[in-house]
Amino acid sequence: MRGPHVGRFAPSPTGPLHAGSLVAALASWLDARAHGGRWLVRIEDVDAPRCVPGAAEEVLRQLERCGLVSDEKPLVQSTRGAAYAEALARLRAAGRVFDCACTRREVGDGPYPGTCRHGLHGKPARAVRLLMQGDDGRDVAIDWTDRRLGPQNQNVTREVGDVVLRRADGLWAYQLAVVVDDAFQGITDVVRGEDLADNTPRQIHLQRALGLPTPRYLHTPLVLAADGLKLSKQNGAAPLDLADPVAALQAAAAVLGLPPVTAATPPEWLAAAVRAWAARWVA
Ligand SMILES: [Zn+2]
Repeated sequence: MRGPHVGRFAPSPTGPLHAGSLVAALASWLDARAHGGRWLVRIEDVDAPRCVPGAAEEVLRQLERCGLVSDEKPLVQSTRGAAYAEALARLRAAGRVFDCACTRREVGDGPYPGTCRHGLHGKPARAVRLLMQGDDGRDVAIDWTDRRLGPQNQNVTREVGDVVLRRADGLWAYQLAVVVDDAFQGITDVVRGEDLADNTPRQIHLQRALGLPTPRYLHTPLVLAADGLKLSKQNGAAPLDLADPVAALQAAAAVLGLPPVTAATPPEWLAAAVRAWAARWVA
């Protein structure tokens, strides 16, 4: 039997929430509440150069205006370095990681070619990479099931390659931080945008390498920009207009395929939306 449901929303504080990030926040909140579970917010600020001072506080204020409040003090990844170092040390002791001396140009755009798997030949170590290979030296194929997208499969050895866990600039990579923190926070259900579905198999491989449980996954539809690409700060997503938070919630719910709800306040709207979510997603 599964324990209590714990969901999470994990924004990067690179700017205020936009329509797409509200969809992920709302979906994860509705899923947690529909299961009678807890909902946690995690600030994913490991990529410090991309973070904007004050953005985390603004995101939390925007969420609160929509009635979405973390059940615990938000976990901030920039305070978690010791945990990431401990995880990396365990992986190293198990022979699951290796130092890499390659420059970005040497690696190119495709999966890492495995250059440094068997030593650096005197070159200085730059990054640390996860060995994306089975103990028997065979390819690793990850089978997993998304609650919305159904059965998925990826050969992470060939399609992803040895991902970086600690970057050449000394920063922790997103993949390591996510996996360590999902386990630390006891996350049972990851609900996030479909653009991250492709990251799931490599995260499952890393969970297994660390002996951590694999949560269930539900990847939501994305809000697309006028050019058909995923809405993001990079293609000019406007910050959310929260003058009318109920209207913003309703727009996010429409992306999730939920029926319209009539309500005067966010709490009232959320209570009705939880019932609609439960009807669709809770077995
Ligand atoms: Zn290398």
